[in-house]
Amino acid sequence: MKSYPKPLAKLIGEFAKLPGIGNKTAQRLAFHLLSQDKTEAEAFANAIIEAKEKMKFCSVCGNLTDEDPCSICSDAGRRQDVICVVETPQDLMAMERIREFDGLYHVLHGAISPMDGVGPEDLNLKDLIVRLQNNPVKEVIVATNPNIEGEATAMYIAGLLKPAGIKVTRIAHGIPVGGDLEYADEITLLKAVEGRREL
Ligand SMILES: [Zn+2]
Repeated sequence: MKSYPKPLAKLIGEFAKLPGIGNKTAQRLAFHLLSQDKTEAEAFANAIIEAKEKMKFCSVCGNLTDEDPCSICSDAGRRQDVICVVETPQDLMAMERIREFDGLYHVLHGAISPMDGVGPEDLNLKDLIVRLQNNPVKEVIVATNPNIEGEATAMYIAGLLKPAGIKVTRIAHGIPVGGDLEYADEITLLKAVEGRREL
């Protein structure tokens, strides 16, 4: 089989490095880009470079931002006494989408996972402690993922903060909408029962 010319093979190779992109999709994307106008292709390339240059982590909460502190940390209209702890900037965005929470955030950039060699010291926890020491925070809501790593992280944070007299809560997890009780794993079902509310 004849291989692709070098510049095309290189472009396909770069796409194939992206998560969820297989070789076939990488080829499709590369051919699509080549079929575009030069200006469109340049706009795509420039968007990558600009995002990479301008986006950074907020020095207060760890969120991805183009200004430091981020727009959430510098919003005086939000509650300053509640901090919601999440694993990733994407989780923060998911929380923002439900428009229910008007406090502040703290992004851990991961979760405790001994299997992957990720311990508490690898997470953005030191900055959280500093924030709690310097600000009158009443409650920390732990919104880590409802899996083993997320639960371990939540337990660790609770153990860390409760002795300091800070109220630590965990969001209730349950059966996903459209899910089936029968196929729910034990942890999910247990959390669903624990997080029950009065009707
Ligand atoms: Zn921030």
